[in-house]
Amino acid sequence: VRRIGAIGGEYDYDVVIVGASLAGCAAAIFFGRQGARVALVDKQPDPRAFKRICTHFIQGPTIPTIERLGLLEPMLAAGAVRSHLRSWTAWGWIDPPAESASRGVNLRREQLDPIVREAAAATPGVELALGRSAQALLREGSAVCGVVTRNTAGEETELRGRLVVGADGRGSQIAALAGIGVKTLPNNRFIYAAHYEGVRPAGAPDGAIWILDPSWAAVFPTDGDLVLLAAMPTKERLPEFRHDPEAALLSFMAELPEGPSLREARRVGPLVGKLELENRVRKKPTAPGLALVGDAALATDPLFGVGCGWAFRSAEWLADSVAAAMRGEEALGRGLTRYRRRRASELRGHAMVIHTNSLARRLKAPERMVVAAATRNPKVATAVDKVVTGSGKPVRTFGPAIPRAIAASARQALSRRHSGGGASRRSLT
Ligand SMILES: Cc1cc2nc3c(=O)[nH]c(=O)nc-3n(C[C@H](O)[C@H](O)[C@H](O)COP(=O)(O)OP(=O)(O)OC[C@H]3O[C@@H](n4cnc5c(N)ncnc54)[C@H](O)[C@@H]3O)c2cc1C
Repeated sequence: VRRIGAIGGEYDYDVVIVGASLAGCAAAIFFGRQGARVALVDKQPDPRAFKRICTHFIQGPTIPTIERLGLLEPMLAAGAVRSHLRSWTAWGWIDPPAESASRGVNLRREQLDPIVREAAAATPGVELALGRSAQALLREGSAVCGVVTRNTAGEETELRGRLVVGADGRGSQIAALAGIGVKTLPNNRFIYAAHYEGVRPAGAPDGAIWILDPSWAAVFPTDGDLVLLAAMPTKERLPEFRHDPEAALLSFMAELPEGPSLREARRVGPLVGKLELENRVRKKPTAPGLALVGDAALATDPLFGVGCGWAFRSAEWLADSVAAAMRGEEALGRGLTRYRRRRASELRGHAMVIHTNSLARRLKAPERMVVAAATRNPKVATAVDKVVTGSGKPVRTFGPAIPRAIAASARQALSRRHSGGGASRRSLT
C-alpha cells in the first residue's frame, strides 16, 4: 500500500470523496472553493463516463445550487432545455401558470456528467483521480479517517482525510464499509426509456407526465432536439416489455391519451430499462469522520425526478454545514449533525410522498379530489406542482387555503354534473 500526496501533518487531504458523478463533483467544487485540499476518486477511468440509466429532468428547486456551482451557463450552452412539467390526468391537464410553475432543466447525462466533472477537476485544491475503486476505510479509533483505493493494475493507495464523503451512488460501498444500514422500501413499477428524434410533443419545451393511475409515463424534450420517452408501468406488464422492450415502449407511448405522434420517431442511442427501482434509505447519512451524499444516502423512485437535484443539493448542504469545522472553528461532529438535520428537514416530507407513490396503488378518494381540483384551479395546480417538484413542503403547501379551494372545486364539479353540464371525465370519488 502506497500513500500519495503526503502533505505532512496528520492528513493528506481535508476531504476524500469517493464517486465523481453529480454529488461527488458538486461536493468537490464546494469544498475546493472553501480552500480545502480535496481528493476526488472514481472507479470509472473515462473522464467522459456518465450514468446511463437516468431520465435527467432536474426539478426547479435545484436551479439555485446549479447556478451557485457555475454550471447553468455551460449546461445551457450544451443545449439544456429549461422547462416545467405538465401532468395528464383522467380529469384533464394539470398545467400550473408559467409564473408560478417550478422551472427545471433537462440535459442528457452524456453531456451533463462530463461538464460537472470538468468543473470539479478545474477547481483549485481538487485532485481528480480516475480508475480508482474504493476498497476499504481507514479508521482511527471509531472515526473514519481515509480510504484505500485500488487502480486497474491492482495497486493500492491510501488517501487520508479529515472527512470522507461517500458519493458512490445507490449501492454505496462506502456506506456498507462504514456499517451504515439500509432500509429498502418497495417500488411496484419498472422503467424503460430511450431518446428519440422526430417527436414534437404538444407543449414543448415543457415536459409532460401521464398519471395513468397506477402506471406513469413521461415525455421530456431535451438537448439536440431529442425527446426522452419513458414508460413506468406496474409489474403486470413486465412479460410484454421483456419480450420486445422497444415495441412495448412504443405501443405503451402510442396508447397515451393526448400523447405525442410517434409516426416519425427514430431512436437515438440505446434503450435502457431497470426492473428493480426500490427506494433505498440509509439509516444515517453520517458516521464519525464520514458523510454520505446523493444516492449513497437516499436513492428514491425516479418517477418524481429528484435524484440529480438531491445529489447536487445534499453536497451543498454538507459543504455549508461543515465549513466552520473545515476552518478549524468547531469539531467536525457538530458540522455533521448540522448536515443530518438540514437533510432531514429538507427531504423527509418529500421522500415520504415519493415512497407512498412507489407502492403503485390506485389514487384514494381524497387524492383524486386534489388531482381533479388541480386541473381546474391554478392555485391547486401550483400547490401540486410544488409538492411534486419539492419546491414546497407538503404540509405547509397544502394548508389552509388549498383544502378550501379543493372543496370548492369539488362542489362546483358536482353541481355541474347535477345540472347536466358535467365536464369531468371521471367521477371525483
Ligand atoms: C431509471 C432512473 C431514472 C432517473 N431519472 C431521474 C430524473 O429524471 N431526474 C433526476 O433528478 N434523477 C433521476 N434519477 C436519479 C439520478 O440518476 C440519481 O439520483 C443521480 O445520478 C445520483 O447521483 P450520485 O452522484 O449520487 O450517484 P451516481 O450518479 O450513481 O454516481 C456514483 C458514482 O460513484 C462511482 N463509484 C461507485 N462505487 C465506487 C467505488 N467503490 N469507488 C469509486 N467510485 C465508485 C460510480 O462510478 C459513479 O461515478 C433516475 C434514476 C433512475 C434509476
